[in-house]
Amino acid sequence: MTSPDSRKELEHEVVVVGAGSAGIAAAVASARNGADTLLVESGATLGGDLISGLPIDGCRSTGGDWIVGGVAAELFDECRAFGGYVGSIFDRRNICVVMVNPRVMGFAVLRLLKKYGVGILPYTQAIGLAAENGRVAGLELANKTVRLAARAELYLDCTGDADLAVMAGLPFETGEETQPASMTFQFRGLDSRALLEFVRDHPENCGLGENPLVRKTAPELARELYEEGIPKVFFSGEGPLIKAAVESGELFPCSMLALNPNSPDYTCVTVNTTRMVLPDNTGGGALGEAMLALTDQVVQAAAFVRKRIPGFAGASFDGVAPRLGIRESRRIVGEYRLGERDVAEGIKRGDGVCKGGHEIDVHGRDRDHVRLAIRNAGSYDIPLGCLLPKGMANLLAAGRSLSSDRVANSSARVMGTCMGMGQAAGTAAALCAKGKILPRELDIGLLRGTLREQGAILDGTP
Ligand SMILES: Cc1cc2nc3c(=O)[nH]c(=O)nc-3n(C[C@H](O)[C@H](O)[C@H](O)COP(=O)(O)OP(=O)(O)OC[C@H]3O[C@@H](n4cnc5c(N)ncnc54)[C@H](O)[C@@H]3O)c2cc1C
Repeated sequence: MTSPDSRKELEHEVVVVGAGSAGIAAAVASARNGADTLLVESGATLGGDLISGLPIDGCRSTGGDWIVGGVAAELFDECRAFGGYVGSIFDRRNICVVMVNPRVMGFAVLRLLKKYGVGILPYTQAIGLAAENGRVAGLELANKTVRLAARAELYLDCTGDADLAVMAGLPFETGEETQPASMTFQFRGLDSRALLEFVRDHPENCGLGENPLVRKTAPELARELYEEGIPKVFFSGEGPLIKAAVESGELFPCSMLALNPNSPDYTCVTVNTTRMVLPDNTGGGALGEAMLALTDQVVQAAAFVRKRIPGFAGASFDGVAPRLGIRESRRIVGEYRLGERDVAEGIKRGDGVCKGGHEIDVHGRDRDHVRLAIRNAGSYDIPLGCLLPKGMANLLAAGRSLSSDRVANSSARVMGTCMGMGQAAGTAAALCAKGKILPRELDIGLLRGTLREQGAILDGTP
């Protein structure tokens, strides 16, 4: 156990806290650009929702253009090398997603961290932060055996919850009500042919044909899904299948039941449907209670899927994602606040360091769900200012806690965008460490040029 005399000091150029999609990309990018980088993660696994089986949204715009490359593309290459890349798939509703086998992705994450020489410290939580003269002077970390004082030139808050910003006493934002937490689960042994026949014959149950660039009817798109043979299916809360189940009590109130393929043979899928709005998504009792309560929704949904959706009768339940899914918690107050208009109108900027392209996507209580397309099925730019918390000169934040209003955040929170932000923040940190400067002194042209050279996509979409 941690005791007061088991203390250790660590010194690195860059310390990244949080190993979700943003933190992984940040740490890889920082190390790739020559900074001695440490990645700290409170949990046992690295990758966050990259290893949950969910679709990786936001790597392509709804128009189909790739808008995130770089570290994300390298991770997909690693997955491909180990047989775990399922593909980049158009869901025939509105979006293009990347699907992977989450267990292979977990391995790919470790391979990439190793390749670039990132030091990792799993099972270790950042519990305190010392600040001096408007800068982070050090972090206090703790695990079972040791307390650590970690010092660096640059610190990256990729905790999803803006923990470092909060520990530094900086202001933050939260929604009056936050989006629901969800427990996703998997089925193995699906007969995807039978499922897709059902989709083809009953397109009214599915969300299809919302993309303005695709001028086809729902039945035509259902037939395309059937012919393509990939079980990426969105059963809509507005369709008769889910509606009747909710009204009869067979299913809890929900806006969707989404099936996401996780194996290249399309026999394994992740189901995303459960939901529970919590008073506090950042930890403690409410999360524990939700985890237990959501198991009832999983039981209900799994029974519904087996009974009502063809293809699942012979499939086996394959457990839940490694962690409870949190869509929304705290947002930093940064130099620039990404707004609903930036996202909805696909605003481009000369100081953009990555792109978002996922629709506005605010899950609400029960059946509430607000979804709005981005203009021209295009992309918007995220400036470095969204990643620079006001009040702490050597701290950057990337991932779902970016500086943004709630509506903009519902788009930028997705994993592809988080990886883009992570790569930008990690690269910025490494350039700052090399040049002995602070992020606000960094030449944006140099950052953008470096990002482009390393595969990031900053231009070229409507
Ligand atoms: C149910 C659900 C469905 C979703 N569906 C999709 C989808 O279909 N497609 C999509 O792209 N996105 C989806 N999202 C959104 C997306 O998964 C997340 O917004 C995104 O993964 C956030 O990444 P992040 O790196 O910012 O944060 P996280 O993934 O939350 O990573 C933060 C990491 O920091 C660690 N950490 C936190 N505090 C500390 C600390 N003090 N010390 C050390 N470590 C710490 C955590 O353990 C965690 O590993 C969904 C989210 C949910 C919950």
